[in-house]
Amino acid sequence: MNIEKLREGKRAMADRCRAVAEAIVKEAGVKKVVEIKPSQRAHAHATARAIYVQPPTTRRRLTTVAHECGHVALNDDGRHRSHRQEYEACVWSFEALRRHGIAVPRKEVESGKRYVRQKIDQAIRRGAKRIDREAARWCGYRLPAGVEAVRHSPLPPKGGRYAERKIKGNEYFSPEANETANYVHEHLMDQHRGVLVYGAEKILYGNDGYQQDERVRREVKLLDERLLELLMQRRATGSSFGVSDGGGSWAIVLHDCTASVEELNAMVWEAWLEASGLKKDRNEQQET
Ligand SMILES: [Zn+2]
Repeated sequence: MNIEKLREGKRAMADRCRAVAEAIVKEAGVKKVVEIKPSQRAHAHATARAIYVQPPTTRRRLTTVAHECGHVALNDDGRHRSHRQEYEACVWSFEALRRHGIAVPRKEVESGKRYVRQKIDQAIRRGAKRIDREAARWCGYRLPAGVEAVRHSPLPPKGGRYAERKIKGNEYFSPEANETANYVHEHLMDQHRGVLVYGAEKILYGNDGYQQDERVRREVKLLDERLLELLMQRRATGSSFGVSDGGGSWAIVLHDCTASVEELNAMVWEAWLEASGLKKDRNEQQET
């Protein structure tokens, strides 16, 4: 085969992938597609109906686009545990691809299953005693003794969507916020703490050793009290808390938050200064 023909084939494949991706994006009700760099991780923000992906020029990337579309189509907003969400997004994406006549490479199916197995592992490591039965079966995960396979309930956990997200002594860890903390850990390591704006959400975060440093846990607790006030003043509709896999980074996601970044940033730093006993004066230099 000559090189020109090979190139032509590649181009045709890229066109096809782009066209199918466009169709799936529409079917999923995705409103915003944001292009990311190869070094960044693809992800979806279901409530904003946005996906963050590389241009779908190969079958592999198309599979990723379809997967993220799945999260949007399924309204994955942190209601369900992440292994269930990932399982559903995988199944959704494979069906969407088949509908458009794209054979899903075996490698992609395998990697989807591996991902769900990892999520189950993670849940069990964090002390989960109940794992979604269908998800476990789909990816071939054998649950250890003491861990129960439970049937999926399509209803959100008791208390409703936002009530369950209220921070209660930082004991509630939301899978969505855990992912955010992982993101913070991977991409913002050079920042000790701060605030990120993400659509209608504002994210407070710290890369300061949550699990390792008692002062940081105190910092988050102090913040927690202040955020409760914010919630009561209805300047945010809810919040969720998460830590990264190694426990080093934390994130608090504030939903529909109207407080300014400056105010929130000051809040984060004040909490740290107070918790660490460094300074009490908010006007002094902020350093760690
Ligand atoms: Zn996913």
